Amino acid sequence: MDIKQQIETLRNELRQHNYNYYVLDNATISDYEFDVRLKQLQELETQHPEFFDANSPSQRVGGQVTKNFETVQHEHRMYSLDNSYSKEDLLDWETRIKKVVEGKVEYVCELKYDGASISLTYVNGNITKAVTRGDGVQGDDVTTNVKTIRSVPLQLQGDFPTKFDIRGEIVLPFAGFNKMNEERIEIGEEPYRNPRNTASGSLKLQDSAEVAKRPLECLLYNITGNNINISTQFESLEKARKWGFKVPTAAKLANSMDEVFEFIDYWNVHRHNLPYETDGVVIKVNDLQQQEELGYTAKSPRWAMAYKFQAEQVSTRLNEITYQVGRTGAITPVANLEPVQLAGTTVKRASLHNADQIEKLDIRVGDEVFVEKGGEIIPKIIAVDLAKRPADSQPTQYITHCPECDTELVRTEGEAQHYCPNYNGCKPQIIGRIQHYISRKAMDIEGLGGETVALLVNAGLISNYSDLYELTKEQVIQLERMAEKSAENLISGIEASKQIPFERVLFALGIRYVGETVAKKLAKHYKSIENLSQATIIDLVTVDEIGTRIAESVVDFFNSEENRHIIDRLKQFGVQLQISAEQLANQTDKLQGQIFVVSGVFESLSRDELKKLIEDNGGKVSSSISSKTDYIIAGDNMGPSKKNKAEQLGIPIIDEYKFKELIM
Ligand code: AMP
Ligand code: ZN
Repeated sequence: MDIKQQIETLRNELRQHNYNYYVLDNATISDYEFDVRLKQLQELETQHPEFFDANSPSQRVGGQVTKNFETVQHEHRMYSLDNSYSKEDLLDWETRIKKVVEGKVEYVCELKYDGASISLTYVNGNITKAVTRGDGVQGDDVTTNVKTIRSVPLQLQGDFPTKFDIRGEIVLPFAGFNKMNEERIEIGEEPYRNPRNTASGSLKLQDSAEVAKRPLECLLYNITGNNINISTQFESLEKARKWGFKVPTAAKLANSMDEVFEFIDYWNVHRHNLPYETDGVVIKVNDLQQQEELGYTAKSPRWAMAYKFQAEQVSTRLNEITYQVGRTGAITPVANLEPVQLAGTTVKRASLHNADQIEKLDIRVGDEVFVEKGGEIIPKIIAVDLAKRPADSQPTQYITHCPECDTELVRTEGEAQHYCPNYNGCKPQIIGRIQHYISRKAMDIEGLGGETVALLVNAGLISNYSDLYELTKEQVIQLERMAEKSAENLISGIEASKQIPFERVLFALGIRYVGETVAKKLAKHYKSIENLSQATIIDLVTVDEIGTRIAESVVDFFNSEENRHIIDRLKQFGVQLQISAEQLANQTDKLQGQIFVVSGVFESLSRDELKKLIEDNGGKVSSSISSKTDYIIAGDNMGPSKKNKAEQLGIPIIDEYKFKELIM
């Protein structure tokens, strides 16, 4: 088999697996095997840039950066939907339809997915554009980002029209949303409020590699175009599914309004079991001929109607407000409620977020409150039933001292949250910090779990992460339910963590606002904890993407004598507190302050390798040419518009070999 064929075979195979996994929810090979094949493909593509394909499955990982999202015109307008809230509204709608259309009317009932609407354009089976709804006439071109979403087919299969638009909704399923929030809480950031806003925010991220990491999905529901050879809405859903799109199978044909009502009643209950959020049902006239007869109002089609589910609400008594202390010391007030049934689950607790929220609601112990399950996963208290407030009710006094260690709380100007500043003496903070240190993305200590950490702290065996390295097997064995073998694993897992590279150690330290990406940037820039600990705020903010909030937090961390002591101990135990000699050998300042634009494909290395070389030598990579650009590194197939612009601005264009001379 020649190379080209080999590449094509791998692409087809990966496409099929991707489809099985993300569209059909039915994996046929393991993640590991998938990764192996993807690596093979990436290697072949790097060695043979002449076979580059913008729609290859290898492009899913993203990497392109969009500075400004271009506004583009929709070829076919994206309409809104009329809303209805009751069955009477729907019957009125049916009466209006029957005045225009003769004969039998069938309806398609679909779920109304709550996300960000998107319009995808396909030409000859390849995706060419993805545009947000915007004002319906024009939207933003977010193609680069949307192509990283695994359930969006880059290339179609079967018998598709030459050119068409397909509309749908980009959603963030609950599971992925929760996971993203756990990670944010871990680095001391406020969690995202709801999946819908997070999904639409994701589409506007500049770095598509970041979008690729988010577990977004794209659910499709409408095909538009000329000569598409489809006669009903239901048929269009079935066809789209065959071409490779993710079209939820809940959609049903209804012969009458009664059947529409059945669909609504069913999903009003069962929607809570869906993996993503829905806020209603969309009912559409099935026959496209009839749709055309009905036409559009200024804003929406007359052939479709959204039926909005009532956000479910109950009222119950607020028994108590308790306060939780997080790993970073952040205090979260929690409403403890008289247990009540809501949307199929028993609700006992609801988050009150912060002191402002309590004040805004004027919520008091003993109040009867309204609880709602809306976009958020955790139920929300939306109001107090003032009519039922007991006469002797007293306004809520927010706590002034930590419920765990009794230290006076602080609240920084402009921040919503109160914090317990007793960094080294407050139990949940101590335990939380060590749990973060050992976690998978940090030191990844095998054989040690979060609960064991709590046991070790409570038994007085450790009080910070440096103490882990002095633990002995004999000490660990004393813990409840700890077998000899497990104790050995735990100790050897701790030993092995001494090999974890500096950037991850830096993340593991749990400095507020220093997440994985920031840790990488700091590690690369400062190269050792020694250098970092001496950096001033002014130094720190000169590092790319480090703002004053992060800078202050880093400086605070190293100002603490206790922290410096812990780090000295880590150093003694042999934890990696500087980047390795090998990493160091590859880094220079030769390109300091210079800005590069990379264009086209290269012979001797991949674009990513080239970018890494630029950054490792102190240069910066930019995606668009401006008067600030120092060099353009051009490979094969450099775009003509880039070339013109470079020539106009008089920016030198060099090839990869000339570039390598710059860093020799
Ligand atoms: P609204 O934003 O309330 O006017 O509702 C209209 C929006 O609902 C459309 O722009 C779509 O983004 C969204 N939507 C969600 N699910 C569907 C569906 N199955 N059919 C049509 N539109 C839908
Ligand atoms: Zn405390």
